[in-house]
Amino acid sequence: MHFHTSQNSQSCLLASSVAVLQAEKRGSSTGVGVGELIWPSPSDGTPFWKKDFPSSGVSPEVFADVKDSDPKHIIHVTAEMAPIAKVGGLGDVVTGLARACLSRGHTVDIMLPFYECIQKQHIKDLTVITKYNSYHDGNWVPTTAYRGVVSGIPVIFIEPSNLFFKGQYVYGGSYNELEAYLFFSRACLEWMQQVTSTQPDIIHVHEWQTGALPLLYWDIYHHLSLKKPRIVLTIHNMEHYGECSKEQLSKSGLEGSVYASIDKAVDDRTIGHNPERLSLLKGGIVYSNAVVTVSPTYLKETLCTGWLASTLVRNRDKYFGILNGIDITMWNPATDIFLPVKFNDQKPEGKKFCKYYVQRGLGLASEGTQDGNHVPDITYKAPLVVCITRLVPQKGLHLISHAIKHIEELGGQMVILGKASDVRVQTEFEGLAKLHNQGPCIRILLMFSDELSHMLYAAADMVLVPSIYEPCGLTQMIGMRYGAVPVVRKTGGLADTVFDMDDQSNHNKANGFVFEGIDEGSLNCALDRAFTYFREKPDEWNGIIKKVMEVDNSWNNTAGKYVELYHSI
Ligand code: ADP
Repeated sequence: MHFHTSQNSQSCLLASSVAVLQAEKRGSSTGVGVGELIWPSPSDGTPFWKKDFPSSGVSPEVFADVKDSDPKHIIHVTAEMAPIAKVGGLGDVVTGLARACLSRGHTVDIMLPFYECIQKQHIKDLTVITKYNSYHDGNWVPTTAYRGVVSGIPVIFIEPSNLFFKGQYVYGGSYNELEAYLFFSRACLEWMQQVTSTQPDIIHVHEWQTGALPLLYWDIYHHLSLKKPRIVLTIHNMEHYGECSKEQLSKSGLEGSVYASIDKAVDDRTIGHNPERLSLLKGGIVYSNAVVTVSPTYLKETLCTGWLASTLVRNRDKYFGILNGIDITMWNPATDIFLPVKFNDQKPEGKKFCKYYVQRGLGLASEGTQDGNHVPDITYKAPLVVCITRLVPQKGLHLISHAIKHIEELGGQMVILGKASDVRVQTEFEGLAKLHNQGPCIRILLMFSDELSHMLYAAADMVLVPSIYEPCGLTQMIGMRYGAVPVVRKTGGLADTVFDMDDQSNHNKANGFVFEGIDEGSLNCALDRAFTYFREKPDEWNGIIKKVMEVDNSWNNTAGKYVELYHSI
C-alpha cells in the first residue's frame, strides 16, 4: 500500500490514522505497530529526539551468507567509530566494514583513542587490559589500553595520561591534534608489538590522522618483531592531508628530515619554501601496501586534480576505488530504535507516520494537525526535503542556503540538520535559522544529533546532497534505504549511486534527481523535476520510493572487494 494512490489506499491510511489517534488516547497498540505513540510538539520540555531510547543492543547480524575461506585478522586504526565517536562518514564506514568482515568470518578489532567525550553508554564490558608506556617527544608516556565491545565489534581504546584527546568533542580539543594522532599511531603499534605480540594480517589505517603509522611500521616496528602485517590506507577525503613539520614528525621517534623528499612525504606545494612541510597523508600513500578511496568516480577525479594527483599517479598500481557501503544493521527502518513507527519496503506505511511525527515535533505545517475530532490527513501534499550534513564548503553551502528559498517558493518543506565548525558559517546559518524557524515550512537545526538524523531520514520525501565534491557520500544511500528520494549533484560517489529519473539511457538504474552545475539554476531544475514527480505523477513517485528502498547499498556488496584486496597484498 502506498500513499496518494487509490481511493482504497487513502481509506486504509485514514483507518490507520484513526487507529493511531485512538491508540494515542488509550495507549494501546495498532495494526501498524504504532504502539503507545505520543505526538511530540515544539513546546515539549524535552525535544522528541532527546528522550530516552531503548538501548540498541545491536549485534553483528549475519547479513552476509558469504563466509570467506582463509579468514584474516584485521585491525583498524582510526580516529572515528560510529556511534561512540562519530563526526561524519568515517565513523560509519569503519563500523560498517568491520561488522561486514566479522560476519564473513574474519577476526576484526578496532583501535580508537579513548576520547574524553566518547559515548561510554554504548560500550559493553569496558575493562582495562593493560598499562604500558609509549614514546612521544623524548618521553615514554604512561598509557592505558582498555577493551570493550561496541555494537558487537571488539574495540581497543588507547588512553594516554597526558592531555591528548581530552575535551568536549572528537576534534578541536585544546591539545595539539597532529601530535596527539602521531602519538596514537605509535601507541597502537607499540601495543601490538611490545605489549601483546599481536601479529594481525592487516593493519587498516584511515585518513591523515593515522597516516604516519605506515612510516612507523616499516621504519621502526617491522625491524623489531612485528613482521606479518600489511598496511591498507583508506582515504575518505583528500581535503585534509595532515600538514606536519619535520620537527613535529620527529616527535614520533622517526627522523623527520628523512621523509622530506618528493618520493616520500614532502608536501609538493611547499617545495622551495622555507620551511618545507610534510603531509602525513602523502607519507601514508607512499608507505602503505594498498591505498583505497571510497568510490570509483572519486578515484578518477583524484588522479586528475588536487596536489596529491601526481603522488597517486605514481602509486597507481596500488590505488583502488571501492565504493562505501552502509551499515544496514545500524540503518534499518524496520528495526530502528529511534523511529516512532518502523517500516520497510514491503510495508512502507510507517513512513507517513514518521513524517507526521517529525512535522508535529518541529512545528512544521501538517494538514494532519489535530483539530477537535478531526482525523489527521497525513497524505499532506507538501514534500519534505532533508539535508543532513557537516556545514563545510565541500557540501555546497550556497546551494543549501539557496534550496531553502527555492523549496519555500515551491511550497515544500525543508529541514537542515547541520553542524558548522567555522564561526562565519555558523553565524550565516544562525541568521537563516532566525529568519525561517518561526515559519511553517523551514527548520534549520544547527547541531549534531544521531537520533534526530535517523528520524529525519525516515520522515523525508527527498534527501538533498548538493556537494561541490563528494568522495562517496552516505546520506544519499541512507536516505534511500529509508525511502527518501535523493536529489544530488553529479560528483564523486554521488555519481556512482544516484541516476537521474529523466535519463532515458539509464532507466533501469534511475533512482533520483541529478544536476551537474554548481549554480542555483541547476539545483532549481533538479528540485523542480522532483517536485513535479511528487505532485503530478504519484504512481511513479511511489515506484521510485519502492525502488530506492530496494537498492542494496550495504557492505554486502562491497566488503568483498576489501577482502580480495587484503588477500592480494
Ligand atoms: P562526511 O563524511 O563528509 O561528513 P558522509 O555523507 O560520508 O559525509 O557521512 C555523513 C554521516 O554523518 C552520515 O551518517 C550523516 O547522517 C551524519 N551526519 C552529518 N551531519 C550530521 C548531523 N548534524 N547530525 C547527525 N548526523 C550527521
